Amino acid sequence: MVREGLFSMLLETRPIFKNREFLRPSYTPEELPHRDSQIHQLARILAAPLRGETPSNILIYGKTGTGKTASVKYVTRELEKVSDRSPLKVKLVYINCEEVNTKYRILATLANTFLEKLRCSRDAVELPESVPMTGWPTDEVYKCFFRAMDGEKQLAVIVLDEIDKLVLKSGDEVLYNLTRMNSDLKNSKVSIIGISNDLNFMNYLDPRVRSSLSEEELVFHPYNALQLKDILEKRAKISFVDGVIEDGVISLCAANAAREHGDARRALDLLRVAGELAERQGDEKVSVDHVRRAYEKIEQDKMVEVIKTLPSQSKLVLYSIVILMERMPRSIVSGEVYSVYRDLCSQAGLDVLTQRRVGDLISELDLLGVISAKIVSKGRQGRTKEIKLNVHPTQVMAAIQGEQLVTIDTLKLSRQLTLV
Ligand code: ADP
Ligand code: MG
Repeated sequence: MVREGLFSMLLETRPIFKNREFLRPSYTPEELPHRDSQIHQLARILAAPLRGETPSNILIYGKTGTGKTASVKYVTRELEKVSDRSPLKVKLVYINCEEVNTKYRILATLANTFLEKLRCSRDAVELPESVPMTGWPTDEVYKCFFRAMDGEKQLAVIVLDEIDKLVLKSGDEVLYNLTRMNSDLKNSKVSIIGISNDLNFMNYLDPRVRSSLSEEELVFHPYNALQLKDILEKRAKISFVDGVIEDGVISLCAANAAREHGDARRALDLLRVAGELAERQGDEKVSVDHVRRAYEKIEQDKMVEVIKTLPSQSKLVLYSIVILMERMPRSIVSGEVYSVYRDLCSQAGLDVLTQRRVGDLISELDLLGVISAKIVSKGRQGRTKEIKLNVHPTQVMAAIQGEQLVTIDTLKLSRQLTLV
């Protein structure tokens, strides 16, 4: 009886989503409102070699969530489609340099892509079947890539997304090779598209690489609230069941993301999480209240990520704050944090930092937004910092525990000792 009732209740609730996948960053939309100008410029630059002109390299930059990756994927996908009818076939290679970030791995990925393509069209007896992902001399990998690519008349469009990550990790050597290839290639041509959120990496480039990489430059400006609203409305239509979104929901998501440098990813995340919260509560509509809670949830999740990457000593300081909060839920002062911290260190057999250094760590936690610390005057006793935690204590614990089980076991013990 109970089970039947349970399920019938769930089945009776009207669904919120038609297809939530359309709200995820992995989905490349069919339409990209407010990016017409960038899309046309990209198409014009990339189509030039199909008419026999020398291809240009392109550098694209703009803050996160301004549609760089989506626009490039959209244009290159269309270009591949039409290239069947052109004398020069287009081969697109997309590499995310956050994942593939060494010279060797970039070249091996390229070599394997073109070797596979060559094998499909004809036998290339003199070339290996594939290149291993480690172990060969880099020169050999490069030669293999060069010959496989030049084995056919084609335009290779190589997209290096998050190119700044590659340069910071491995320097610009591979870019030097890639941007000089056109003068040596006999049959094929290559065009590099570099995408970055941050222009500082340009300072680390050899001047020749810099000028060659940015033969054409495209800037993606942040979206404003009205533009974000358009983007969200189009996406909401295909992702949500008709009529489930209440008035004001989309405007609120758009306004929120516009404040954070016009990030469309952020706007879409807010809308998706708001929908998921409504769904989880069995509500039939998504309201502005769900958006507000989605905002809080996303902020908390971000903080948890920040906490996970903190050095051990900062985690210990934060942990001391949590213990104090649980003991007396009011604002606490830095001196108290230090004495709990000192206890924890000695229980766990860790080095004890000076009070001054712990003060610095508290300031860092404040800067990161994990806590808020306010300097207050205590009359004759001088000044101290009043501390408030901005993340829920259970979330802090979850973030710390996942990382360092051994230490935390000891900590749990010491926590009990401190509380006694
Ligand atoms: P970037 O590469 O600049 O960080 P993305 O291209 O990944 O940003 O865009 C972030 C998210 O926003 C993706 O889900 C993308 O589909 C979406 N998006 C960005 N610009 C638009 C647009 N003009 N129209 C529709 N969706 C967009
Ligand atoms: Mg991107």
